[in-house]
Amino acid sequence: TPIVSARDLVKVYGEGDTAVRALDGVSVDFARGAFTAIMGPSGSGKSTLMHCVAGLDRPTSGSVVVDGEETSRMSERGLTRLRRTRLGFVFQAFNLIPTLTALENITLPLDIARRPVDAEHLDAVVRAVGLADRLDHKPAELSGGQQQRVACARALVARPAVVLADEPTGNLDSVSSREVLAFLRRSVEDLGQSVVMVTHDPTAASFAHRVLFLADGRVVDELHDPTAESIL
Ligand code: ADP
Ligand code: ADP
Repeated sequence: TPIVSARDLVKVYGEGDTAVRALDGVSVDFARGAFTAIMGPSGSGKSTLMHCVAGLDRPTSGSVVVDGEETSRMSERGLTRLRRTRLGFVFQAFNLIPTLTALENITLPLDIARRPVDAEHLDAVVRAVGLADRLDHKPAELSGGQQQRVACARALVARPAVVLADEPTGNLDSVSSREVLAFLRRSVEDLGQSVVMVTHDPTAASFAHRVLFLADGRVVDELHDPTAESIL
C-alpha cells in the first residue's frame, strides 16, 4: 500500500469572486520506499498539496491517507501528533539550532520524543550523511550543503513514515545540491525511507524515482526514472 494516498483533493482559498482553486481534484499515490518529486510552475498548487499531506492545511474536499491513517477526520491534536511521530520535514532554510553540534541537531527529534536512540539506525544515518569528521561542529562551521544534510538527517533519524522536503536545494549551489540530493536518494535506497520533494530544479528532480507535474491545481503529467534531459 502507498505511504500517502490523496483522493479527489480540492482546496479552495477564499469565497465568491475572489476564490482560488489551489487544488482542483488531485488523486495521487506516493509509493513506500520511493523518492517522489513534485514540479510545476509557481502557483500550481505544490505547497498546498504538501500542506494537505502534512495536515497543516485541511482540504475543502477529498481525502488524504498517511501511513494508513485518514487525516481529514483527525482533530488538530491528532494532526500535531501525526506530524511529530510520522512525518519528517526539510525546508529551504536549514533551521538548525545554532548552539548544538551537528550530531546533537541530528538526534534532537529523538530527544524531544524521549525515544531511545536506535544505535544501529543512527550509525547508518550518520554514515549515509557523510559528515563523520564534522559531527562535533556547530552549524556556523559547516557549509550550506553540510547544514542541509544535517537537516535531512534530522528529518529521518526517527524513521518517519515519510519525509516531506520543500525546495530543499533552493538556497544551495549545484555542488551542495547534489550532495543533499544524493543523501536523500541514499536514505531511500539504503535506509528504506520514503521521500516526497517539491522542487523547481529539473536536475534536483532527476534524483527522484518519479516526478509529478502540477499545473493549475491538477496533476498533468508524470515521469518514471527521469533524467534532467527528460524533464526539460
Ligand atoms: P505553488 O506551491 O505551486 O507555488 P501554492 O500551493 O502556493 O502553489 O498556491 C496555489 C494557489 O493558491 C495560488 O494561486 C496561490 O496564490 C493560492 N494560495 C496559496 N495559499 C493561499 C492562501 N493562504 N490564501 C489564498 N490563496 C492562497
Ligand atoms: P520554506 O523556507 O521552504 O519556505 P518554511 O520554513 O517557511 O519553508 O515553512 C513552510 C511551512 O511549513 C510553513 O507554513 C510553516 O508553518 C510550516 N512549518 C515550518 N516548520 C514546521 C515544523 N517543524 N513542523 C510543521 N510545520 C512546519
